Amino acid sequence: MNRQLQITLGLTAAAALASTALLSQAAEPVFPAVDGAAVLEHTKVLASDAFEGRAPGTKGEELTVGYLVDQLKRMGLRPGNPDGGWVQRVPLVGTTVQGSPALSFRKGGAERRLAWRDDYVAWTKRVAERVALDASDVVFVGYGVEAPEFQWDDYKGADLRGKTMVVLVGDPPVPDPAKPAELDPRTFGGKAMTYYGRWTYKYEIGARLGAAGVLIVHETEPAGYPFAVVQGKTTEQLDLETADGNRGRAAVEGWITLDQAKALFAMAGQDFDALRKKAATREFRPVPLGVTASVSLANVIRKVPSANVAAAIPGSDPALKDEWVIYTTHWDHFGIGPAVDGDTIYRGAIDNASGTGGLLELARAMNAATPKPRRSVLFLFVTAEEQGLLGSAGYAEHPLYPLAKTVAVLNIDALNVYGRTRDLTIVGLGLSELDDVIRKAAAAQGRVVKPDPMPEKGSYYRSDHFPFARKGVPSVHAGGGMEFVGKPAEYGTRVREDYIRNDYHKPSDRVKPGWDMSGAVEDLQLYLRVGHELASGPSWPEWKPGAEWKPLRDAMLPDRR
Ligand SMILES: [Zn+2]
Repeated sequence: MNRQLQITLGLTAAAALASTALLSQAAEPVFPAVDGAAVLEHTKVLASDAFEGRAPGTKGEELTVGYLVDQLKRMGLRPGNPDGGWVQRVPLVGTTVQGSPALSFRKGGAERRLAWRDDYVAWTKRVAERVALDASDVVFVGYGVEAPEFQWDDYKGADLRGKTMVVLVGDPPVPDPAKPAELDPRTFGGKAMTYYGRWTYKYEIGARLGAAGVLIVHETEPAGYPFAVVQGKTTEQLDLETADGNRGRAAVEGWITLDQAKALFAMAGQDFDALRKKAATREFRPVPLGVTASVSLANVIRKVPSANVAAAIPGSDPALKDEWVIYTTHWDHFGIGPAVDGDTIYRGAIDNASGTGGLLELARAMNAATPKPRRSVLFLFVTAEEQGLLGSAGYAEHPLYPLAKTVAVLNIDALNVYGRTRDLTIVGLGLSELDDVIRKAAAAQGRVVKPDPMPEKGSYYRSDHFPFARKGVPSVHAGGGMEFVGKPAEYGTRVREDYIRNDYHKPSDRVKPGWDMSGAVEDLQLYLRVGHELASGPSWPEWKPGAEWKPLRDAMLPDRR
């Protein structure tokens, strides 16, 4: 059997097998109804002004953690930390750049000065009071991707040590040879973004190559958000506290605007648009711009103690109770920040007081299920998602229970508050057999599963299931949909776009009159059923062939494979 055929057959065979093998034959469990009013009530408390926007390390965190633990205790859950506590400490370190340092590009006698915040933003992940680029040679590295599985290497062995990389955001947009107007689905997933397209990847590979600076060219379309979102990174940046103070990272990480990138290339005697086009080919090689970059960042550093909240329902089967199904949702938001329309509290009602309230209610319902799940279930309310998935990454680095004993991770982030949908979105559909379990639960609700409507935004890499996936644990984010019951066809797109434009990451993300929790209730009921199934069924979901993290899982579970 040739490899392509094997993969094709493997996919269908795995899907067919999964629908029989994975799904338990036991009698259907009985769950109490998920109470939408309770979800809304939790959301109102968590998004209230008193909680000050739930920033890590603030009074808002104290109140949030206190509220969650109190509620979980009342529901009769058990402390989720094996040390008997309700929290997992997540020590963070905060870094704030002082003043408004300019970034200067020089070539011969010519100099271009980029204004802080307007033209560029920069920070350092190093825990250091001062970092600098001192006449560092600037090299354009295209999309900065090294992906052997796609026979792609933008670096071609170039030495970037001490240099400053200028890099494009997104995956290389490679046209489909059969349909040149479309992207090739076999190379970097076509329209869908792979991890190579994410900004975090660009900084990670820059560090690996020893670059002193990594500057990403901001373009709204491939980034998925406007420069204003990037400008948010001029305030304090949080990171996980590590033993080496992140000395392995590039000294300076940042973004420059598209206009400044074009001006930089013009200064270098290069044509930005022509080089960007070249960067979408395998032939691309790094282009030294003959320009140097200089900037000095003075940082104020502080330690920020923070915590994930963890609650457990111990498995009912002594042979299986050391195995875990994990639900994640992030409790944090941005706290108190720059005023927008005179308002400074970033309440994050949808993002993610709603998901936090939803997981509380789901935990209550799971604890009252009959029969109880056979494996143990962990409810993990993580911190600092908004700062780069730090709480979930902290857990994945220092798991409370071994990842090799973790069956799957189900993530909730930002509930649907606009009513019932006929469809259900699975972000990362096609990656693992979790799809099949979810599809079955969706069918029982008369709903159909659909892929992420905007795969180009790389949503799979943008919420708390991802740090687990990166470590090999099958993880998924499902919820919401685009086809609303009793609403016109464009309603889903409209409410989503309205939210992104008006409220996303703004103080106006508050609980609004007229929210309809019926869709969220259905999603939570579905998640409840899926989690119970995974915690009680005979086998574990696997990554599907071709999924980036499958080899990690296979290595983690040699006897299961
Ligand atoms: Zn957010």
